[in-house]
Amino acid sequence: LLKTKGLTKSFLNNLAVNDVSIELSQGEVLSIIGPSGSGKSTLLKLINQLETPDKGEVFIDGVSLQKSSKQIRNQYFQSIGFIFQDFALFEHLTVKENLELSPRIVHKKDRNELKIQTQSLLELVGLPDKLDSYPITLSGGQKQRIAIARALATKPKILLFDEPTSALDVKSIDDLVSIIKKLKAEGIGILIVTHDLRFAKLVSDRLLFMKNSSIILNKDINDIIDIDLIFDTL
Ligand code: ATP
Ligand code: MG
Repeated sequence: LLKTKGLTKSFLNNLAVNDVSIELSQGEVLSIIGPSGSGKSTLLKLINQLETPDKGEVFIDGVSLQKSSKQIRNQYFQSIGFIFQDFALFEHLTVKENLELSPRIVHKKDRNELKIQTQSLLELVGLPDKLDSYPITLSGGQKQRIAIARALATKPKILLFDEPTSALDVKSIDDLVSIIKKLKAEGIGILIVTHDLRFAKLVSDRLLFMKNSSIILNKDINDIIDIDLIFDTL
């Protein structure tokens, strides 16, 4: 589904991502763990074309984004949903408007079709009654679930989460875990950057440890006996 080969990115003299090659399959959940400044967010941005790599390539379904036309790149941009750490909802729009903006512009769907989709996305994230609410009236956990619903509105095959649990309480984290499990079951490939070891253990199939801009360890969750021990040695 998704593959990166030798991705490298520097900011001035600062090497943020160094020769990173990863793979994500359909229905797989992969978490990236590592110290602050190790390049995790930059890696997500390279995958989502918010940053351009100095070297290396991103492949989606085997197609290299770097070797593709702008038109093809745009098309793949739509197939990746990004849930930002601060959720980045449009504050002046209602939940309904937040969820319908992209699909209306991108897919040119008609009003009725959109209405049905929006309602089913809100049900998926457990907030069917928030259709006409403004983001300011929502809690952190609710905002995040709306951000997930919005990311899903363009029917992405891949979802990227940057620090999804940092603003959430334990109950909201458990809700997030069940939403991610549902999306996984639908075959979406999910890449998560997190500091939260408990959460990573609950949702992931595989953990990647990133340090000094590189992936230093790539392990199946079942092969990890003591995650805290690994984390301590990072
Ligand atoms: P955190 O856990 O604190 O979010 P991170 O692993 O996500 O850290 P990145 O945000 O990817 O780290 O940053 C990696 C390095 O790249 C850091 O040294 C950072 O200062 C630098 N960096 C990131 N974005 C930019 C930018 N837009 N311009 C200049 N330097 C940047
Ligand atoms: Mg970050």
